Amino acid sequence: MAKQEDVFKTIIAHAKEYGFVFQSSEIYDGLSAVYDYGQNGVELKNNIKRYWWEAMTMLHDNIVGIDSAIFMHPTIWKASGHVDAFNDPLIDNKDSKKRYRADVLIEDEIAKFDEKINKEVAKAAKRFGESFDEAMFRQTNPRVLEHAQKRDALHQRFADAMNANDLAELKQIILDYEIVDPISGTRNWTDVRQFNLMFKTEMGSTADGAMEVYLRPETAQGIFVNYLNVQKTGRMRLPFGIAQIGKAFRNEIVARQFIFRMREFEQMEMQFFVRPGEELKWFDFWRQTRLKWHEALGLGNQKYRFHDHEKLAHYANAATDIEFLMPFGFKEVEGIHSRTNFDLSQHEKFSGKKIQYFDPELNESYVPYVIETSIGVDRMFLSIFCSCYEDQDLGNGDRRVVLHFPAALAPVKCAVLPLVKKDGLPEKAREIQHRLRFDFTCQVDEKDSIGKRYRRQDAIGTPYCITVDHQTLEDNTVTLRHRDSMQQERVAVADLERILAEKVSLNNLLKKLL
Ligand code: ATP
Repeated sequence: MAKQEDVFKTIIAHAKEYGFVFQSSEIYDGLSAVYDYGQNGVELKNNIKRYWWEAMTMLHDNIVGIDSAIFMHPTIWKASGHVDAFNDPLIDNKDSKKRYRADVLIEDEIAKFDEKINKEVAKAAKRFGESFDEAMFRQTNPRVLEHAQKRDALHQRFADAMNANDLAELKQIILDYEIVDPISGTRNWTDVRQFNLMFKTEMGSTADGAMEVYLRPETAQGIFVNYLNVQKTGRMRLPFGIAQIGKAFRNEIVARQFIFRMREFEQMEMQFFVRPGEELKWFDFWRQTRLKWHEALGLGNQKYRFHDHEKLAHYANAATDIEFLMPFGFKEVEGIHSRTNFDLSQHEKFSGKKIQYFDPELNESYVPYVIETSIGVDRMFLSIFCSCYEDQDLGNGDRRVVLHFPAALAPVKCAVLPLVKKDGLPEKAREIQHRLRFDFTCQVDEKDSIGKRYRRQDAIGTPYCITVDHQTLEDNTVTLRHRDSMQQERVAVADLERILAEKVSLNNLLKKLL
């Protein structure tokens, strides 16, 4: 079996070859951890955003959207704590001159214990065959228990150091566990230092004393500072939410794993304002609601898991991540946080403006509490892309690469293919495309053999191919080929809009959420 690392490399190559994701500034040798979306990538990305936006703003009467600017008053980032505390602990290896996040090096070390446990389990499963009781084995096997105990001890020490912001202890852990630089293989480490992740720039001309501003590291603050505007102009009553999709920027120390960790990325965030004391009920609601949104895509429910935070930010009283099984393990795609009234209170303090809600039922005013759901568009894209990719063996030495995208998210919904490039078939294909293109992204492809054209559409995840042949000219029927089963059926041209709408419409996905 191919190693997961190789599979991931193949997927990245496929994303480039078929116009999904390109390295930014590639002809200038690229810009690290910055990517561009190509002709198919942008369609998939827009569909993901639409799915999220409509699920939030159309399926919830009490959620509205906004679009705030990337530049904001610099005091906002002082108030939010980002100027003082949006840091990662970094460490350099003196031999390779490479920079790493100390916390990630240690987390990788913790993950090694789990890998060892999984190896023991796999070995035993092979030995015992059908009668293997995995749960029992995990609970009782001495080697598994030893690895688990070592893992937990390291985890505890790491969590204590992070909570205490103890940089010397982080370095000591790296030394004690003999963690080596994956490139140089040495343990020649510098001390651990804090590194602020915000990008700075200047606004206004330097002559009149330019103001230093930041590129926003999250979209959420644009929502908090507009809370009063939206609440008042929209006459919103608690509980209510504000949703936003937009770019965010972080000067990540270690940018790797393709579009998983980028320096410029996109977030879809929703802040849900509630009465104090009701936040944990709503936290639970959003935890379930968001998982349902993910699961409705049909990528496989076993690929998701919650990871509850043990280390909470000082202002949070609950936090969890929704993790997805990527080719490099379970990784965070979305965070759900109960942020108390921290952000609004801070903005009240720093701006001097009253940010309160008058609750007519309680007849009192207070600063609302907030539940946040925060998901990265690019990570969502990556999780869908990886799990839909299949290099399929069709038997008899035949293979195809197919992207099994959920039909509603596929960049191209259908392709109309004239069987031959003559006898009026291309003209008929165009005529059909001109009808369908009002409702669906629809291509005509007439180059190469029909088999090659099917493969090309499979490789970009087009759910339906419509083949126009000589019979079409006689009875106005076509063959409709289904991407996943490769089965074909004869249907009337007049029925195409209805059939396609049933299969590829975003409404089908949205209806699963209710
Ligand atoms: P991580 O621990 O992986 O750095 P985080 O906990 O800092 O992530 P949040 O601040 O909770 O992430 O951001 C919310 C979401 O934004 C994440 O779940 C992720 O999907 C996305 N995100 C955060 N940083 C990046 C990045 N550098 N590149 C792409 N997406 C990101």
